[in-house]
Amino acid sequence: MERIYIKEIFKNKKEEKVLVKGWVHETRELGKIKFLLLRDVTGIIQIVATKDNSEFKKMNQSRENVISVSGKAVKSKQAPGGIEIVPEKIEVIAEAEQPLPIDVSDFSKTELPKRLDYRFLDFHRKRTQAIFKIQSIISTAFREHFINKGFIEFQPPSIISSASEGGTELFPVKYFEKNAYLAQSPQLYKQMVACSMEKAMTITPVWRAEKHNTIRHLNESRQMDIEMAFANQETIMRELEEVVQYIVRQVIEKGAQELDLLNVKLKIPKAVYLSYEEAIKKVKGKTGEDFTPEQEKKLCGIYPDSVVFTHSWPSSIKPFYIMPKGEKKDAKLSEGFDALYGGIEISSGGQRIHIPELLAERIKAKGLNPRNFESYIDSFRYGAMPHAGWSIGLERFTMVLLGLNNIREACMFPRDRDRLTP
Ligand code: ATP
Ligand code: MN
Repeated sequence: MERIYIKEIFKNKKEEKVLVKGWVHETRELGKIKFLLLRDVTGIIQIVATKDNSEFKKMNQSRENVISVSGKAVKSKQAPGGIEIVPEKIEVIAEAEQPLPIDVSDFSKTELPKRLDYRFLDFHRKRTQAIFKIQSIISTAFREHFINKGFIEFQPPSIISSASEGGTELFPVKYFEKNAYLAQSPQLYKQMVACSMEKAMTITPVWRAEKHNTIRHLNESRQMDIEMAFANQETIMRELEEVVQYIVRQVIEKGAQELDLLNVKLKIPKAVYLSYEEAIKKVKGKTGEDFTPEQEKKLCGIYPDSVVFTHSWPSSIKPFYIMPKGEKKDAKLSEGFDALYGGIEISSGGQRIHIPELLAERIKAKGLNPRNFESYIDSFRYGAMPHAGWSIGLERFTMVLLGLNNIREACMFPRDRDRLTP
């Protein structure tokens, strides 16, 4: 007999012989009758046996044992979902050693660090599963949206020979006789792809050797990036607005069950566009400085259910490759923007510098050596047009969308200041 997924039994709604496989979720004994909740990746079904059932004894199973049950699905008013299984044969496929090292119930009493130590077991929890099912919907929606718009997906290298964003915070790698680094962003590569193939997208890991330990930073994270030729900051802010709305719509449609389980209610966000100067005034910040986490939260509080764009940032606090306003090397403002959602930055982007001399100037102005960026600068010498792009952190976005209080909840195997395993 072929195994059937639990969801199918509820869908079929008929009395039939079945074979199910999964984890022991819960057991209960009420005198002469024993209940066992069996869980697979699609749902939970009740197994019920009375004293005269040959499998009565085998109904005593430890939590998270993996078992197979063949028997008859029967309708029952008392059973959750209206159907339960009367077992004919119960077999243990794998025993789970007891006691379990973490609490695997939905509202686990185990603290996050310990749950992460036993992440494989934490994956048994439906809440954890819901987070990653939604993350999978997010990345699929992102890819789908841009592929449908004629973007090409590309894979940048993860090992690079020099800094892409300027000196600091790189993990060194030994590369034969040479020193290399783990990529902190696909920046330079996506620009090269956009300047030849026009519309580029990628979902790729990046590494940042920031020593601080915060609830919103990882040392290894995934980025969802686009880059477009013949585009400025306005063009790509609209692209960001559109894709966020598309992703949220997909999550609402395809992740309804998971959202329910996580007790999250989503609305398709509106978009608000403010200049940096307007925005920094609204939160009483200092012109020329980045928004503090409190100020980001405050700004989003003014515009609920919105992606808040702050555009035209001062050049001094944007990376060297962001185009100064009017393509003038001394312009105070730039074509760079940030996007905030749910109180936190989810994306940064802008128009890039495609003029080699200007690029060299800006690199110098940031106190960096243009000679270290020669091949990057040279890539714009043979026909490079104005282009622009941005980057959304996948884990950051997941965290914001689901209102998680730590980004590690949104990363299967987080890498942080202290954690390298599992
Ligand atoms: P922040 O100011 O929030 O630290 P950033 O400005 O340093 O971020 P960017 O270089 O703009 O980061 O990266 C683009 C996006 O990638 C960010 O908007 C964010 O969503 C995500 N991101 C950046 N750094 C991290 C990190 N250390 N861990 C997880 N996600 C990150
Ligand atoms: Mn940023």
